[in-house]
Amino acid sequence: MIITIDGPAGAGKSTVAKRVARRLGLPYLDTGAMYRTCALKALRLGLTRPRDVLAMFRRTRLRFQGRRVFLDGREVTRAIRARRVTDAVRPLADSPIVRREMVQRQRALGRRGIVTEGRDQGSVVFPRADIKVYLTASVDERARRRHRQEGGSLLGIRRSISARDGADRRRRVGALRLPRGAVRIDSTRLTVAEVVDWIVGQALTLTGRPADN
Ligand code: C5P
Repeated sequence: MIITIDGPAGAGKSTVAKRVARRLGLPYLDTGAMYRTCALKALRLGLTRPRDVLAMFRRTRLRFQGRRVFLDGREVTRAIRARRVTDAVRPLADSPIVRREMVQRQRALGRRGIVTEGRDQGSVVFPRADIKVYLTASVDERARRRHRQEGGSLLGIRRSISARDGADRRRRVGALRLPRGAVRIDSTRLTVAEVVDWIVGQALTLTGRPADN
């Protein structure tokens, strides 16, 4: 079974996707972490041209282990969340050649079933997914959630989220949009458990398995 969860920054995709994956016994993929890891290595090596980044990324080993992310064998779980990495993702995510490589890797990882989250998972990477969710929330609520997780200036976080929303929606290839056949869930007034239960319920209905909890 393939379940895609797309949506803007701070909508709760990672939290929801991880729990859905655990409940259904499926692997979980955070595609934002792939872009972030690529950006981190490009920053470290001083690479900016998409062609050079692509060549580097093709020789790069990525490993996901639960919540942990490893770049060429070294853990980068925290490092990829740094502000300068978030800022460095955009030119790579805007590059069609870098995206094509990401899409190939994501398809290979999801071949045998996956819960995957990002911006283009239901629209580009897995257009025939069994369940497609577009998870969103108001920009104020998304900023508050990030602020609770990471601290810092609420206003600064809100600005950064709005800027990323714009960039993610305007991208020529792989732009954030409601994928064809996706269910749009606005989580502004929903709990994580409510969203997770709904998705797991859909999945169990599809497979004909009874719900356990
Ligand atoms: O999900 P996260 O905020 O970690 O993603 C970081 C950035 O990577 C996003 O702002 C987006 O520009 C990019 N991204 C993307 N396509 C994906 C996942 C993330 O372009 N499938």
